[in-house]
Amino acid sequence: MAKTIQAIRGMNDCLPSQTPTWQFVEARIRELVQNYHYHEIRTPILESTELFKRSVGEATDIVEKEMYVFDDRNGDSLALRPEGTACAVRAGSQHGLLYNQQQRIWYMGPMFRHERPQKGRYRQFHQFGAEAFGFDGPDIDVEIIMMGARLWQAFGISDKVELQINSLGNNEARAAYKQKLVDYLLQRVEGLDEDSKRRLHTNPLRVLDSKDPNTQTIVADAPKLIDHLDEDSTQHFSQLCERLDTLGIKYRVNPSLVRGLDYYNRTVFEWVTTQLGAQGTICAGGRYDGLVEQLGAKATPAVGFAMGIERLVLLVEALQEDKATTMHAADIYITAMGDKASLAANLLAEEVRTFYPNMRVQMHCGGGNFKKQLKKANASGAHLAIIVGDNEVESGKFGIKYLREDKPQASADKHELIKQLATLIV
Ligand code: ATP
Ligand code: MG
Repeated sequence: MAKTIQAIRGMNDCLPSQTPTWQFVEARIRELVQNYHYHEIRTPILESTELFKRSVGEATDIVEKEMYVFDDRNGDSLALRPEGTACAVRAGSQHGLLYNQQQRIWYMGPMFRHERPQKGRYRQFHQFGAEAFGFDGPDIDVEIIMMGARLWQAFGISDKVELQINSLGNNEARAAYKQKLVDYLLQRVEGLDEDSKRRLHTNPLRVLDSKDPNTQTIVADAPKLIDHLDEDSTQHFSQLCERLDTLGIKYRVNPSLVRGLDYYNRTVFEWVTTQLGAQGTICAGGRYDGLVEQLGAKATPAVGFAMGIERLVLLVEALQEDKATTMHAADIYITAMGDKASLAANLLAEEVRTFYPNMRVQMHCGGGNFKKQLKKANASGAHLAIIVGDNEVESGKFGIKYLREDKPQASADKHELIKQLATLIV
């Protein structure tokens, strides 16, 4: 026998038993973006590699080692998108949506990173993100943060996630701080892990979120960026905190929060949970006022976030006691015993669907005796089985069998049956 073909490592199938939870999560997200009046954008999954090099940054994990990059048949270097913000900015500026305008947009879809697969970390994963362009105040930062807060409320997981915030200041303040940080770390370079030693020269801020315990001890006493902000950023940050306080949103200022992508400035934040082991960040974002210009368009302030749907699904699933009940049950199951009956059942099923577009109508296909068909009807979760046999076709009366109630079997002609179905299934 030929060898079976498996899915690519780290790329998951979402099976019919899992899709109800995904659809539930996606439906709440669609309600949320409508509630905040954000507009959806859909961009291609492939972009030119250059886009991510110039936005996410050459010296980041994503660009250094996680991107799926290949040359297409023309020899152009393409990348499977590792994140959505750069794509949104690319599309927004290409179509003239950004400059001198205010836009609130959102996206949802697959992203790709060649990471080591583990719980909550995959090579194809899904993000929901929102981006607001053309606003530079803390008011919109709070709006963007509140979208997360409101989503946790909708899922009943508010007590499972913590908001962490920080400010990265403007470019000058950050550059001056970087020098201070490098000076401090160079004096203690022997104690740093290998990655951090390298990052000291390429991307020193990333040393701050190293997971290595020794490095963390050194970092704990390092000068803090939040103490070296420019005047405007300090004010922006304190106004942000004040607004969060007013809205009753709890947060923790985490001076080591720097984010793994180069384009952020001023406000950065993460929503973190302790429920998913090491993969605790379910949503991350911040301000990226320089990115639009960096990608060649006219400067436009911007802020946004990206949320990992798999991690959200894991959290929501953990709350459901009985996963099986999330599978949608059929409403009615139409049996079909005999050739004539099968044809009549086909017709009846279509008529019922026309009459009740929201009804879950499952028709028995593939023949078999009454007992077998009734077993299938039961397994479908339907309230009712409609019995269609050659006798029923001849008499013009269909049988109605109650599958979940202790009621005698009834019968009705087609017209009456269709009319009654709405009340029969409540
Ligand atoms: P992490 O620190 O977990 O690697 P990150 O900083 O690389 O996250 P972002 O690029 O900010 O993550 O992406 C935003 C969100 O997307 C993350 O908070 C997470 O929920 C989700 N995410 C990122 N990478 C993956 C992945 N490989 N698999 C599943 N979800 C992911
Ligand atoms: Mg990562």
